[in-house]
Amino acid sequence: MTLFTDFGLAQPILKALAAEGYEKPTPIQAQTIPYAMEGRDVCGIAQTGTGKTAAFALPILHCLSQDPKPRQRKSARVLVLSPTRELSGQIADSFRAYGRNLKLTTTVVFGGVTISRQEKELAGGVDVLVATPGRLLDLVDRKSLTLRDIEILVLDEADQMLDLGFIHALKRIVTLLPKERQSLFFSATMPKTISTLADSFLRDPAHVAVTPVATTAERVEQSVIFVPTNRKQVLLETLLRDPSIDRVLVFTRTKHGADKVVRGLDKAGIVGAAIHGNKSQPQRERALAGFRDGSCRVLVATDIAARGIDVEGVTHVINYDLPNVPESYVHRIGRTARAGATGLAISFCNDEEKAYLKDIEKLTRLKVPVMPLPEGLPAAPAPSEHRGEPQRGRPAPHARGHQGHGQPRSADPNAEKGPKRRRRRGGKPGGGQPQGGHPAANQPRPAHGQKSAQGQRPQQGQRPAQAKSAPSRSDGRRGDGAQVAWLEKSPRRR
Ligand code: AMP
Repeated sequence: MTLFTDFGLAQPILKALAAEGYEKPTPIQAQTIPYAMEGRDVCGIAQTGTGKTAAFALPILHCLSQDPKPRQRKSARVLVLSPTRELSGQIADSFRAYGRNLKLTTTVVFGGVTISRQEKELAGGVDVLVATPGRLLDLVDRKSLTLRDIEILVLDEADQMLDLGFIHALKRIVTLLPKERQSLFFSATMPKTISTLADSFLRDPAHVAVTPVATTAERVEQSVIFVPTNRKQVLLETLLRDPSIDRVLVFTRTKHGADKVVRGLDKAGIVGAAIHGNKSQPQRERALAGFRDGSCRVLVATDIAARGIDVEGVTHVINYDLPNVPESYVHRIGRTARAGATGLAISFCNDEEKAYLKDIEKLTRLKVPVMPLPEGLPAAPAPSEHRGEPQRGRPAPHARGHQGHGQPRSADPNAEKGPKRRRRRGGKPGGGQPQGGHPAANQPRPAHGQKSAQGQRPQQGQRPAQAKSAPSRSDGRRGDGAQVAWLEKSPRRR
């Protein structure tokens, strides 16, 4: 077994790791650190949550500590490129944490905030600069930064960089860097476009990979619930009444959809916050801080905003909308089960999204077990109910008793187009999974800890046949309530 002490890392770094409570390297660290310490380029396939940041930060900090140099004005020795401000901030925090016993400086720059403060921070030079590509080039163009002294380059989340349209920025940045440098390149997926990009950055790289591109996070138990769009919100609210859902990331396809979900939660008396590209930097920071400190247990996010967010203890990921890009599913569910913890990913799937589910199953090469709708799930509320102002103090959704047949509303405007309406008018409330019509008004919702899905509950011991990479869990870690058991043990496979 590899230990951190096996790598020859400087003592102050080992001390910082002990303070972080890291006992042994994760697989990506065990594979990457030796090459990086030799000064080799590395091309790594790894998702966030695998310990990738330390895999590059530790050898970089070691290298800088062994070769101290005076800082040059408007310059840096290490450049880490990352796609989003959140991820950049987290990477910078990691460098500071692992380098806490070293006299090195780390600065982060990203767009959306005033540039002058960043220019001031860079004026005297820094050791490690973490940056998003656009803001980096702005700083270069304003002559507030030069890249001529970069000794080590890290390109993190390369596939997301391309998704976000940073390709031209990246191509330009590479022309501004010294040819003699070490480059470490990481991506969660490695399709042809990414490997071509990698080739333009790397020289004779060592290849490392911790999860094959198409596998989903090891310790995430997955399930899918078939639900029409107009019942997704009540389904979400019902699931969130389970107290074992400590910290949950809910994914929507659109920014508008994220806001709408949060408004719905607010009406149901559930504290949630949205994070997406239309939110200001302070709003995003506030949302993340609340999620981290536990004051807000539900964070509703779009893919781009959430990618790379590293919040410990995310117990559940809920895909309110299934992503139309199957790789996004892998990234999303990787937000839970980080650093050895287990996690649960539940996907809501309407009729239209069944095609996305197929793509996901093809990519991950596993069938996502189906979980039935909770039996007492309230029917979709009538549209009028959601048009007015929030009605404070109104009963929780389970007590609303609106059936809304015939006039369903959509929780996601994107998913409310075309043939769906026609189909629903046929009066099949359960969409792909008929539910036998349980009017909510007649069905008091079970209290916490009571069985909420009595009829649908799996028999003990009967577990969905999980794919290799999603081992079943029977430790009952969060299984202190019957509802949890229901959540954790979906009985049927498709
Ligand atoms: P990352 O993939 O870099 O975003 O890391 C995911 C999480 O794993 C972060 O919260 C890290 O602090 C944590 N982590 C990284 N390396 C280790 C390790 N060797 N042991 C325990 N936790 C770790």
